[in-house]
Amino acid sequence: MEYAGPQSEAMSGAIDRCVHCGFCLPGCPTYVLTGEEMNSPRGRILLMKEVLDGTLELDEITPYIDPCLGCLSCVTSCPSGVQYGDLLTPFRMQAETLRERPWIERLLRKVVLSTLPYPGRFRPLARLGQFARPFRNLAPRALRGALDLLPNRVPSSLPLPELVPAQGSRRARVMLLRTCAQKVLDPEIDMATVRVLARNGVEVVLPHDQGCCGALSAHTGAGEQAKAFAKSVMKVLPNDVDAIITNAAGCGSGIHEYPLWLAGEPEEEAAKTLSQKAMDISAFLTDLGPIRPPDLPQPLKVAYHDACHLAHAQGVTIPPRELLGLIGNLDLVELANPEICCGSAGTYNLEQPDNAAELGRRKAESVISTGAEAVASGNIGCLTQLGIHLKRQGYAIPTYHTVQLLDMAYQGA
Ligand code: SF4
Ligand code: SF4
Repeated sequence: MEYAGPQSEAMSGAIDRCVHCGFCLPGCPTYVLTGEEMNSPRGRILLMKEVLDGTLELDEITPYIDPCLGCLSCVTSCPSGVQYGDLLTPFRMQAETLRERPWIERLLRKVVLSTLPYPGRFRPLARLGQFARPFRNLAPRALRGALDLLPNRVPSSLPLPELVPAQGSRRARVMLLRTCAQKVLDPEIDMATVRVLARNGVEVVLPHDQGCCGALSAHTGAGEQAKAFAKSVMKVLPNDVDAIITNAAGCGSGIHEYPLWLAGEPEEEAAKTLSQKAMDISAFLTDLGPIRPPDLPQPLKVAYHDACHLAHAQGVTIPPRELLGLIGNLDLVELANPEICCGSAGTYNLEQPDNAAELGRRKAESVISTGAEAVASGNIGCLTQLGIHLKRQGYAIPTYHTVQLLDMAYQGA
């Protein structure tokens, strides 16, 4: 590998800024799990540099780069402003074109990348997977993680119209970017998002020909697929909206990376404009000034979990708490070590099942120790991961997207 192409400046910028201080180590989940320098942000930056300089072979460092969750906790904790994602994302995209993976990994990647971004394929596959669940222990190890992620019941699709009008006088017009896996695993989140936006005087555009945003592909190093998805999303964007709203942290973070993915391409400038317009639903609503909902009829203790791609990748930590704080009778509690990932991170459950399970177990323990009656978060992956691990520890604590709790409050539920 070598520094090449239009992303090389961003990559070398991240490397050059690192002063090896180590402040990022305690917040790095894989360093916390292993205690190994090479499984830390500082160690990985050095390893990637050595490969790009030609002094190490790619194969020698993949055992340390693969376990990286891409959670970007290291970006939050770095006092030197190292943009680790500027290095990791292009590195993974380049590395993937050069790697020789074992056949089972190649097969799993092919299945994941040809189904998850397509709800029309993922839904029937998820339903099929439910029948395979009782035989989980007989399945190849790599597939067990995938079976664990499936809900007990795969809901039917919930169609939304292409335009949802604002209630009362219109305060804004937005497009909602719909998340592929969320449409299959929990379509109620989009319904709640649209209801809350309309309730707050926001008109919502939902282009039916919008495909995957490419975040999952980019996260797994499938660069060409990610770029193709990004370009197709850019084609369906209406020009006359005030914001592009995301309600899954992974997709929101992906859109903010479009200028990096598309560096040097004719769409680079448009990608910059789009990423400036993209906002998480919580940040958009707090900027707009949300309408206060009625109090919940019963007190409810809710633990808020920071999704890494919301907190670290987009810097959105206060708005979700402000929205939950608006709901009377809702007692918001904080988790210990909120900066540490829950182990969801895209397809991490499938690729690194041991780390994913341990991080999920620890996060669930942290929720249980608060005595919370419900968990809120801003990412479908985290909600799924927390739900699985809470159940494994014998706690049927329900998980909600932040906007679902606001929706319930508006509805007096
Ligand atoms: S905190 Fe920043 S500068 Fe310090 S080692 Fe980590 S990445 Fe490098
Ligand atoms: S992205 Fe997360 S897992 Fe990877 S080095 Fe940074 S803190 Fe560690």
